[in-house]
Amino acid sequence: MTEGFETRAVHAGQEFDPTTGAVIPPVHFSSTYAQDGIGGLRNGYEYGRSGNPTRTALERQLAAIEGGRHGLSFASGLAAEDALLRSVLRPGDEVLLGSDVYGGTHRLIARILGPWGIGLRVVDMSDLDAVAAALAERPARIVWVETPSNPLLRIADIAGLARLGHEAGALVVVDNTFASPALQQPLALGADVVVHSTTKYLGGHSDVVGGALVFADDAVAEQARFLQFAAGAVSGPLDAWLTTRGIKTLAVRMQRHSENAQKIAEFLSAHERVARVYYPGLPGHPGHETARNQMTGFGGVVSLELADGPTARRFAESTRLFTLAESLGGVESLVNYPDEMTHASVRGTELAVPVELVRLSVGIESVEDLLADLDEALAAL
Ligand SMILES: *Cc1c(COP(=O)(O)O)cnc(C)c1O
Repeated sequence: MTEGFETRAVHAGQEFDPTTGAVIPPVHFSSTYAQDGIGGLRNGYEYGRSGNPTRTALERQLAAIEGGRHGLSFASGLAAEDALLRSVLRPGDEVLLGSDVYGGTHRLIARILGPWGIGLRVVDMSDLDAVAAALAERPARIVWVETPSNPLLRIADIAGLARLGHEAGALVVVDNTFASPALQQPLALGADVVVHSTTKYLGGHSDVVGGALVFADDAVAEQARFLQFAAGAVSGPLDAWLTTRGIKTLAVRMQRHSENAQKIAEFLSAHERVARVYYPGLPGHPGHETARNQMTGFGGVVSLELADGPTARRFAESTRLFTLAESLGGVESLVNYPDEMTHASVRGTELAVPVELVRLSVGIESVEDLLADLDEALAAL
């Protein structure tokens, strides 16, 4: 029997140190490994770019929590995306991308891979008919799904998209950064590869930048592992260790993030100064039913619209507990004005976000304090 999610998150890849019994395996700060005669490697370790035991421990933990066969850890989420894209795509191939994805994903494909002959088409992934029509018009090598999406929290039906993508011969990739595997298991729903910015919920404490890939089967994993080794955007040992430590508490953190975010979304929905709230846990959210079917919680990100751009900007600058900063997924609450911060790179493109929009990353603090902070900032507008 497969162990439960929480058990895997705590134990996978975490055997105690055989020489000392240390319950927590040591962080291996070594760039190279002694050989017992030329080519006599101990457990395959040769050089720090090709392998490091601390990174191996994280990669096993990542595979275990996503229910995949292989995990790979990288220096950032975008480094992971880059490795996957370059190991799969060839000049002339196209990526079908959600219309509301992390701005850096669009920038990477459009501006870095574009000049090497990679095409990009954008479609609303929450609309299965639109996706089917786009794939019927022309095949894509990769269907790239982000759900819930950033920053509009659109929900895409992973099982439906996996079916459509596979019928069209595409590799189906899900960026699972927002939900995390504690709330959503894309590989079990039919996706081929899961991508993470482990900088966010998996690390969970805003103290490390990292990325990950998890694969349902072997072939693409082997190509990406070769690119990880040959191009070298690996995570360092301390980064890998911090991420492993974060993952052990992921399930309890996601539960509290979701509870706090639900209360905040309900409070904002009832507030006269708030024009619109985006949160999949609200019954009025267009993706609510799909989210209920494929997620076990709705996550910690809530977006809201205020009357106009200047009001939204002012609100983002006037909270006290919610710190004005990019990123999300840490234990502390953050507020972000996407148009000028996280999504500045997609201004003027088809992925541009509304100027009235503010994104909250709801932390695990006492929810009464978070609500009071938002209430005061709204009253001062
Ligand atoms: C932050 C983020 C990324 C990029 O990850 P980095 O660790 O910043 O490189 C990719 N996808 C999503 C959804 C993100 O939030």
